[in-house]
Amino acid sequence: MQWLNCLFLQPGLHSADFSTYRFNRNNMMILIISAFLCIEQLIYGAFIAETGSLLQQIYFYSSGLMAVFLGISTFFYCRKPAVHRAGHTAFELSLTAVGLAVALYRTLIFEGEVFRIPTIFIAVLYGAAVVFLIPYRYSILLYTSFTVLSVLLIPRFHPEISSSTYSADIIANGIIAWFVSVMNYRTSVRGFLDKHQITRQNEALAGKNRQIAQVNRELEELSIRDSLTGLYNRRKLDVMLHELAREDRQFSILLLDLDYFKDLNDTYGHSAGDLVLKDISSLLLTHIREQDICGRWGGEEFLIICPDTDLPAACGLAKTLRKVIAGTVFENTYTLTGSFGAASTADYPQVEQLIIAADKQLYAAKHNGRNRTEPAAAGVCKP
Ligand code: GH3
Ligand code: MG
Ligand code: MG
Repeated sequence: MQWLNCLFLQPGLHSADFSTYRFNRNNMMILIISAFLCIEQLIYGAFIAETGSLLQQIYFYSSGLMAVFLGISTFFYCRKPAVHRAGHTAFELSLTAVGLAVALYRTLIFEGEVFRIPTIFIAVLYGAAVVFLIPYRYSILLYTSFTVLSVLLIPRFHPEISSSTYSADIIANGIIAWFVSVMNYRTSVRGFLDKHQITRQNEALAGKNRQIAQVNRELEELSIRDSLTGLYNRRKLDVMLHELAREDRQFSILLLDLDYFKDLNDTYGHSAGDLVLKDISSLLLTHIREQDICGRWGGEEFLIICPDTDLPAACGLAKTLRKVIAGTVFENTYTLTGSFGAASTADYPQVEQLIIAADKQLYAAKHNGRNRTEPAAAGVCKP
């Protein structure tokens, strides 16, 4: 039975969506075909059929009927139904049913019109199978009933025909046309399911991409941050220094080294030292200006970059920070001081030289008694 499921492939979970898609497509086909037939039958009736003949009437009625189809399908085209109901299915199938009925009717009523069978009848049989998406159960119903009707009725109305030859032809065409209809419907279901699967896969992929982007952002954040204090790490500070230098902006730097930090570690333990380093970081972030950048240069050393700031202004900031550090009791227990080396790009435009100058001044600050600032240009500011 597996092969039956495979042949009569169903839209399954997407059946509601597929019904809507199928209806809109079938309705579009009805609109195009009925518009064409409406005009065609009108022209036949007006110019080709004999005036007042039954054939002329049939052409006019057919044209009128197609106008009704055209009206309804145009209505559905403009106002697509939100929910697919049984009435919609009936409308989708009605043009095929009407087409087959008209073809059969013409064949039956006209003398010597038997040759309409291979023309109109077969055109409707195969045309409907290819153009319309007809659910399996309806296509078997349609094709069986019209095949049976044709086989039963044609010999009655046209006894002159050899019924066995015609019956065989009609049955064979009915079966083949039904099979074409099944294949057409099946291909459409397959395409619909594939499209849904691709959409689902794309959504899953988009979700994964968002996750990867988030992880990348987190990784990038981790790669630029110092894990203990959360401040920028030395690598990031280095990048920022070079970026500022490339932008040709004047800036100054402050290199801060905590005084006698080893003693604190030795006395109270390494984890106490860690807590103080974290507190110092918060303190620095709180007291630097909005445009300043603060990072951990290494160990108990911090670098503060002051964009668009000259040396005296940077020294002013160092003084503030130095006083704040000296005036804070960390973890309600420890007091500390810090020494600063300051340098500006006005005197040292190259980043490497700038850092060397600040480092040298930091060393000088230590040498000169600690808890002070030494600028890399003599006499710029008070320690
Ligand atoms: P100075 O005034 O000359 O700077 O003296 P100092 O003791 O601060 O300088 P020294 O270079 O002798 O020691 C720095 C200390 O900083 C030693 C090291 O254990 C400590 N340190 C560096 N990084 C960390 C850290 O992440 N956590 C802790 N708790 N201590 C650290
Ligand atoms: Mg140090
Ligand atoms: Mg130190």
